[in-house]
Amino acid sequence: MSFKYIDTHAHLNLAQFSEDSGVIIKRCLEEEVRIINIGTNKVTSQRAVSLAIENETLFAMVGVHPINTISVDPDDIEALPPEDTFDYDFYRTLATNEKVVGIGECGFDYFHNSDSTYKEQREVFLAQIALANELQKPLMLHLRNSKDGQGRNAYDDALDILKVEAKVRGNAHFYAGTYEQAQLFFELGYTVSFTGVITFAKPYEEIIRQAPLDMIHGETDCPYVAPIPYRGQRCEPWMVKEVYKKIAEIKGLDEEMVREQLLKNAQKLYKIII
Ligand SMILES: [Zn+2]
Repeated sequence: MSFKYIDTHAHLNLAQFSEDSGVIIKRCLEEEVRIINIGTNKVTSQRAVSLAIENETLFAMVGVHPINTISVDPDDIEALPPEDTFDYDFYRTLATNEKVVGIGECGFDYFHNSDSTYKEQREVFLAQIALANELQKPLMLHLRNSKDGQGRNAYDDALDILKVEAKVRGNAHFYAGTYEQAQLFFELGYTVSFTGVITFAKPYEEIIRQAPLDMIHGETDCPYVAPIPYRGQRCEPWMVKEVYKKIAEIKGLDEEMVREQLLKNAQKLYKIII
């Protein structure tokens, strides 16, 4: 089976897709798009693994989203209770499955939670780094600063910890840090990934232009942020093609060459053999 694209950060495991994930998976097969579904808590991690076991072209990651360590994610329509301690054994059992290609999404969220919760978020993050180290699987990072950009910086906080604790590589998803911070991630062997937001928001262009092509990925973060020309619709993994296209356009490179390289980047980091 040949595949042309990988959506490296999707959430078909969220309740928003409970009615029609089968239809979407079929469409992604037709459009030659592979999918990594990312866990955000116990229920969605479990579901990501089940989907990956049932479908050859799907992969999973398991972990606790930093929002879910403290409060309840306002976008999570299931509104499950927070996991303020990381259930290591539960996640370890899930993560040993061969379709699980990483741990996360984990990190720091100062957008939904105050940075006064740094210590609590750090504890759950450290436990997930330990699991990634033990199983030698990469980390999927979620890092978000406060609305006004004041207070602690989620990217600096993660870099400080990863430098000391992480014995694995990983990716900073929905990258919105500075280019200087991106360079520090690259030095640690970490990649950065971009969503459909780059098709309509200018601030990402400079970083995409400067970042080495072999250190970036395309993702959708579906059901959120559908790219142009699908804005306003629920986002789905096959829309990742628009993200690939936009990266090529911003970098002024051949679309087919960029597509091949982004596919290779994901296969390399997540050890996905096609
Ligand atoms: Zn996500």
